[in-house]
Amino acid sequence: MALPTMKNFINGEWVESKSNTYGDVWNPAKGEKIAQVPYGNRDDVDAAVKAAKDAFWDWRTTPPLTRARYLFRLKEAFEENFEDIARVLTTEQGKTIDESRGEMRRMIENVEHATGVTTLMTGYTLEDIAKGIDCFGHRQPMGVFAAIVPCNFPAMVPWWFLPYAIVAGNTYIVKPSEQVPMTQTKIFEIIEEIGFPEGVVNMVHGSRDVVNGLLDHPDIEGISFVGATPTAKYIYERCGATGKRAQSLGGAKNIVAVMPDADLDAAIPSIVSSFYGCSGQRCLAGSILAAVGDIADELKEKFVAAAKVMKVGNGLEEQTAMGPVGSGPHKEKVLEYIQKGIKEGADLVLDGRDLTVEGCENGYFVGPTFFDHVTLDMTIAQEEIFGPVVSMVRLNNLDEVIDLVNSRKYANAACLYTQSGAAAREFKYKVLPSMIGINIGVAAPMSYFPFGGAGDSMFGDVKGHGQEIFQFFTDTKVVIQRWF
Ligand code: NAD
Repeated sequence: MALPTMKNFINGEWVESKSNTYGDVWNPAKGEKIAQVPYGNRDDVDAAVKAAKDAFWDWRTTPPLTRARYLFRLKEAFEENFEDIARVLTTEQGKTIDESRGEMRRMIENVEHATGVTTLMTGYTLEDIAKGIDCFGHRQPMGVFAAIVPCNFPAMVPWWFLPYAIVAGNTYIVKPSEQVPMTQTKIFEIIEEIGFPEGVVNMVHGSRDVVNGLLDHPDIEGISFVGATPTAKYIYERCGATGKRAQSLGGAKNIVAVMPDADLDAAIPSIVSSFYGCSGQRCLAGSILAAVGDIADELKEKFVAAAKVMKVGNGLEEQTAMGPVGSGPHKEKVLEYIQKGIKEGADLVLDGRDLTVEGCENGYFVGPTFFDHVTLDMTIAQEEIFGPVVSMVRLNNLDEVIDLVNSRKYANAACLYTQSGAAAREFKYKVLPSMIGINIGVAAPMSYFPFGGAGDSMFGDVKGHGQEIFQFFTDTKVVIQRWF
């Protein structure tokens, strides 16, 4: 049977890519091809940008509340199609169905938050900046924006940006990850049903050619990127060279530290889920487990006991606690890291390599893996593994935790488990990452707070969602006025 082939959505219509190059989309739980995706070219980008540019003026002059009404309708339609989208997400990405539901919820919350445009987008004024002269700062939409997004959150990540961009009066293009293009395709079918004016929201599938086409296009005002750090850096530099706004979110290597006074029994589920949730493929995932003082052995014992009973399997089955990693090549990469950990002398306490899941024998599974006695010079302590692998380091005190967190080039998230308010304050005050959890293992800001890190985890000034996203999607025009 022929596999479904993804189409672009341009100017309110489903159109075939102008490229003849296609890639495969896989079900990572089964190791089976499930669809084909075009690796689009610059002609596809040009068509989408033209549609978005042509749509801009009418959309920009549509009152903000009228624009927001499209989002209200979209929210309702997303709720109605919630389970269908979640199932497509799990099928192509691998995460458990409950994780997909959680991702969908976060996506919808961005739509909800963006409907507050009439208060979030307002400018400011001051009378009499000089006698009889008044000053107005208006926030104005700018034109066409685009998002280039990663493979691990195919539903949510584009919606950290899209609803804000369009409700502010811009028009938009999404470039999904070529690894997981089906979820956004499903979402765009709903966009089509809602009936946005043609050209306001567009989608182009593809890989590097589409990305470079977007980066170089003179009619694109700004790019929101989320992905690995080398790509994030490249996007940011190229946007600088072509004069575009950019918010470019990269990879991570997050530290979860546990103080001797932590309430371990209460904390263990959330610590374990920080490392193994979404099979460790989260930019907010714990990667280094820093045990402070004499809690180390008990922490290891309780963590490993909880990890051992996790059911790894097909994410579509409700009882599955951890799905596969996203692709065959990625599984190989994770296994190489485990091999490196062993070679460099870490103590492999729990080995997730030889795992077969009944009914999913060809799936890309890696079971929960735990290294103890990891030292900071080891590869597994330095590089983003993006898989279910814990590297435990043993530290003596809070100062060493803070030094460790601040010595990493990545600065996305950091978490501390403690019962001490003073330790928690010291930690959140001094560490460099921008997303901090105190007795929380995945410090994911809600849609009304900003999402993004520091250091090599983010390039640019304005983060995803929150209130300040409206600054990214608008230019502030200052009008100074007097009447004679
Ligand atoms: P990736 O960088 O490989 O791909 C992301 C996007 O960039 C894709 O759409 C891809 O087509 C495009 N791309 C990849 N290489 C390119 C190149 N050389 N030139 C032009 N375009 C290119 O990332 P991924 O593997 O899809 O996602 C995983 C990474 O994303 C991890 O590092 C993870 O930490 C990170 N991530 C970060 C956040 C965050 O908020 N900071 C959130 C989610 C994921």
